[in-house]
Amino acid sequence: MSILKYPDLAFQSSEVIYKTQEDLLRRHLRHICDNSPYYRDKLKGIDIEHFTLDSLQQLPLTDKSDFSHHNDQFQAVSDRAVEDMSFSSGTTGQPTKFVYTRSDLERLAYNEAQGFRSCGFTDEDIILLTCTMDRCFIAGLAYYSGPRSLGAALIRNGNSTLASHLDIIKRISPTAMIGVPSFLLKLGKCITSEGFNLADHSIKRMVCIGEPLRDRELNFLKAGEELERIWGAKVYSTYASTETITAFCECEYQRGGHYSPDLGIVEIVDENDQNLPNGEVGEVVVTPLQMEGMPMIRYKTGDISFIIDTGCPCGRNIPRLGPILGRRNQMMKIHGTTMYPQSVQAVLDGLPQVKEYYLKVQHNESFSEHLTVYVALDGDQSQADDILQKLQARLRVKPELKIVPIEEIRKVVYRPESRKPVRFIDERK
Ligand SMILES: [Zn+2]
Repeated sequence: MSILKYPDLAFQSSEVIYKTQEDLLRRHLRHICDNSPYYRDKLKGIDIEHFTLDSLQQLPLTDKSDFSHHNDQFQAVSDRAVEDMSFSSGTTGQPTKFVYTRSDLERLAYNEAQGFRSCGFTDEDIILLTCTMDRCFIAGLAYYSGPRSLGAALIRNGNSTLASHLDIIKRISPTAMIGVPSFLLKLGKCITSEGFNLADHSIKRMVCIGEPLRDRELNFLKAGEELERIWGAKVYSTYASTETITAFCECEYQRGGHYSPDLGIVEIVDENDQNLPNGEVGEVVVTPLQMEGMPMIRYKTGDISFIIDTGCPCGRNIPRLGPILGRRNQMMKIHGTTMYPQSVQAVLDGLPQVKEYYLKVQHNESFSEHLTVYVALDGDQSQADDILQKLQARLRVKPELKIVPIEEIRKVVYRPESRKPVRFIDERK
């Protein structure tokens, strides 16, 4: 199977986009019915030649547990056609395997190239990659092969030390960086503390992965704001998942993530798997088009967001995906209000007097959920009321707040067995 590319499809009329997506969906379903042991029975009786895009909701959803439990059955090509394999954590205790054919790897590059092109990358860019390409990290390969197919040059410095990245910035003058916001922030602070003048540096753009940059209203969270200020560069967010390989990347106007309509179809569903109208918050479901090795239908990503359908000044005529607001399995219902740990963290991250924190959610005796926010403060310890008011104003719910010594919080947050700080503790039964 070769991949069909429509690089300017997003700029076409809604009718042209709809018709092209429908044709590609039929092609996708034909490949699946002919070759996917997992879906073959599930799609029995479907009239593919007359299948419409509007009927997509009639097809079954697929979740991480389906993929873990029937992992091998998702493979729709022979082992000989596989050119790359990756593994991600599964729900069975065993990592789930993902296979990519030559066409899938070409799709991976095309997909990422479209995103990078939309936020202004060209063949003149020299890009410092600060995320790893090994350990089966498919996103690293995507961030390498996408810009490269645009003609840009890549420096694969990956998980190297700050000193090594700084050395490259000074010596090679890259024009852009790709990485996790908290790391890029650390790098920026380190470089300014050495007396290096960031006004003179060459970095003009940063593409951020893995951590949210914006809130529900698309305003920058503290990390995004600080990144633009410290580096004096434009910061763009991109999002994708290993299973769907459909990237959502902000364009130069930074108003949500565009995707390539020839590579995927996006839906949002509620807790009961019912489709939600544009603008409403729910779980992101993606049908990746043109995937060959492990094609999927309506994959539930577990990530929470919403669709933005107001026009974008860049002229792309497709809805955009909002920022990722949380993970479905971390959803809390506090006094009847649905919320995610990320929204609480966003408030705390924006308060300069909060030095460290973590959240704990538990069931109380009546089995309703109870959220406690543990906070360590800088200086004046009598600011609890002020913090509570700010949390309540933003979350519309008042959690319990406990002020504790910073050492106690650090013991909970920084654990030897975890690479990332642990700021959310879920003790619900
Ligand atoms: Zn746009």
